[in-house]
Amino acid sequence: MAKVAYFSYNVAIDPTRKDGMQPFVIPRRKTRQIDVGGVLIGGGAPVSIQSMTSTYTYDVAATVTQIRALAEAGCDIVRVAVPEKKDTDALPAILDQSPIPIVADVHFHFQRALEAVQAGVHKIRLNPGNIQDRKQVDHVIAACRERGIPIRVGVNEGSVVERKDKQLRAAQQAGLDTDRRSHLIRLMVEILEDYMRIFDDNDFHDVVISAKSIDAGMVIDAYRAISERFDLPLHLGVTHAGPPETGRIRSIAALGSLLAMGVGDTIRISYAADPIHEVNDGKELLCSLGMRHRVEPELIACPTCGRIEIDLIKLTADVKQKLIGIKTPIKVAIMGCVVNGPGEAEGADVAIFAGKGKGIIYVQGEQMCTVSEDDMLDALHREVVVLAQRVESGEVQLGQHDVTITPPDPLPRNDGSIPLPTINN
Ligand code: SF4
Repeated sequence: MAKVAYFSYNVAIDPTRKDGMQPFVIPRRKTRQIDVGGVLIGGGAPVSIQSMTSTYTYDVAATVTQIRALAEAGCDIVRVAVPEKKDTDALPAILDQSPIPIVADVHFHFQRALEAVQAGVHKIRLNPGNIQDRKQVDHVIAACRERGIPIRVGVNEGSVVERKDKQLRAAQQAGLDTDRRSHLIRLMVEILEDYMRIFDDNDFHDVVISAKSIDAGMVIDAYRAISERFDLPLHLGVTHAGPPETGRIRSIAALGSLLAMGVGDTIRISYAADPIHEVNDGKELLCSLGMRHRVEPELIACPTCGRIEIDLIKLTADVKQKLIGIKTPIKVAIMGCVVNGPGEAEGADVAIFAGKGKGIIYVQGEQMCTVSEDDMLDALHREVVVLAQRVESGEVQLGQHDVTITPPDPLPRNDGSIPLPTINN
C-alpha cells in the first residue's frame, strides 16, 4: 500500500445548505474510496456515521426495528453480529427491510462470512488474525471480490501482544517495558501490514482499516501512525469505551481530535448504552466540526448563573422536546437574562431573553413579543414553526450574518422595579 504524502482540501462550501453557515473547512487526508451499499467511504466522501445493533440478529423483527430507529437518527451504515448460522439465516429478511447498508461482523467462523456474502450484505468486518487457516481467509476474500463487497479489518490494542508463542511474547515484552505506548503502536502497524499483505496477495483493495484502544490518546496516536503508513480509508473508534458518561467523552476526545486533523473517513462512537445515543453523538460531533449539515433546529442555552430568575434548565429541556420533528436547521437561543444574553444569542434565528415571570422573543433580530413565563414554551415553539414554514417556502433565509440582536430594556421585576444594568462578566 502506498504511503500517503499529501492532504487535500475537499470540503466544498455548499450554497444549498439551509442553515446558511459556511462550514469550518478541515483539510482531509486523501484516501482510497470504497462503496458500501451506495455509501462511499474515503476519497473525499462525507464522513459517515456507523453503529451496531444490540439485538440478537436472528430476531429479525427486533433487529429491523432497531436499524430503522438508528437510520432515522442519522446512522449511515449499521453492523450486525453473526456469531451463529441462525444469524446469517436472518440476513436476507433484514436486508430486505433495512433502509441503510448492512455490515456483517464475523469472528472466528469463516463460514459465517461466506454465508453473509451469499446473503448479500454490503460489507464484512473480519479479523484475519482470529481465522487460523489462511486458505479460509483467501476464500472469504475471493467471495467478496466476486460480489464487490468491501472488508474492514482492524487491530485492537488489547490483542496485539503475542499470546501463544512464548519466545515472541518475551521479545515483545522487552519493548513494552521500555516504551509501552510507542511499542504497542508499532505492533498495531506491523499486524495491519501483515493483514494487508494477505489482501495484496489476493489483489483485493476494497479494504477499510481500524486501530482501536480504550485510551483516547492511544487511539489518536495509533490512527495518526496508520494514516501515515496506509492510504486506505479509516474507520475511527474507541473500543470498550465504558458507560455513557466516560465513553462519550473518550470517544469525542479521540475522534474529534482525529477528524480535526483531517484523519478518518467513517466513525463509530460506542459505549454501554442504547446505540441510538452513539448515532446522536456522532451526528452532533460532525455537525460541530462543520462536516455534516444540520437538518434540525440547533439549541443554544445559557449555562445559568446568579442572575437567573426562571427555571431555564427545565425550559431548555422542554423546548428541546417540543422541537422534535421540525426539519429546518433553525438556531434557537434560550437566554436567562438581558445582560449577556443578546451577545451570546447574536446570529440565532429565534431567541428568548427571560426574566422574572416574563420573556422577550426575537425572530431574526426583530423583537416580536413579550410573553409570560407560562407561555414561553408555546410562544417560542410557535415562532420556530412559523419561521420554519417561511424558510421552507423560500420567503426567508437562515444564517444571515448581518442579523444582530439589540439588547432589550431590562425586564421589570414582579415588584415593578427595573434591574440595574450589570457589567458584562
Ligand atoms: S445569560 Fe444571563 S443568566 Fe444566563 S449565564 Fe449569562 S448572565 Fe447568567
